[in-house]
Amino acid sequence: MKKERKLIIAGNWKMNKTVAEALDLVRGLRIELGHIKEADIVICPPFTALPAVSQAIMNSTLRLGAQNMSENNFGAYTGEIAAGMLKEFLVRYVILGHSERRQYQKETDALISKKALAAHAAALKPIVCVGELLSEREAGQTETVLRAQLSGSLAGLTPGQMEETIVAYEPVWAIGTGKTATAAQAQEAHAFIRGQLRKLFNDAVARRARIQYGGSVKPSNARELMGQEDVDGALVGGASLDDRSFSDIIRNSVS
Ligand code: PEP
Repeated sequence: MKKERKLIIAGNWKMNKTVAEALDLVRGLRIELGHIKEADIVICPPFTALPAVSQAIMNSTLRLGAQNMSENNFGAYTGEIAAGMLKEFLVRYVILGHSERRQYQKETDALISKKALAAHAAALKPIVCVGELLSEREAGQTETVLRAQLSGSLAGLTPGQMEETIVAYEPVWAIGTGKTATAAQAQEAHAFIRGQLRKLFNDAVARRARIQYGGSVKPSNARELMGQEDVDGALVGGASLDDRSFSDIIRNSVS
């Protein structure tokens, strides 16, 4: 059955790839994927490679994303990157609140909501990450954690902004571990998240907002995950660093 929401598959390169390596990878991706229209494909290189990757995907269907941004506009914020700087390189998406930033940079839901509002003010689409730790899942707290992360990280967004926001459900125990949530576990969490969007916003938002799954997505599990009713795409880490595996994930997802 064809879904009413368009799939969105993003590759998060994290702190990997020099400019030369990024160009090598993106040239391969452009050949493999640069014509695909059935899914929105977003490449999120490190900041230093954004200008080169931006040039390399010009006039293709590939889109550019950043891995983070400041909640502030231009000004005295040493080491930060403003949305306006990302726009210079035709960045359209920005990952916010990735679990690695929640863990290592101590990013809070309140900060993530400020960043999401700043992203929308600059017409960037945020990809807001949520997900429970293994200890939280084992303690039966998955829904409590997701409920708090969603209401905190999406606070202040208008329904219109929420429709243009992507939620990435990334169970922390599945990120970079090779352990994928089963399709049933992913669907259950995504359905819960959609229900929360209905409560926090409205039914139309819940029907239209896209929810990605992230956590050890690979060519062999992409089709089953993407086949779930409430799974509208993937946020891919490790497997996005290789043009063959990222391309295979996308081909298996759209076919
Ligand atoms: C991620 O970091 O967003 C991620 C899902 O990583 P991986 O695919 O490597 O688990």
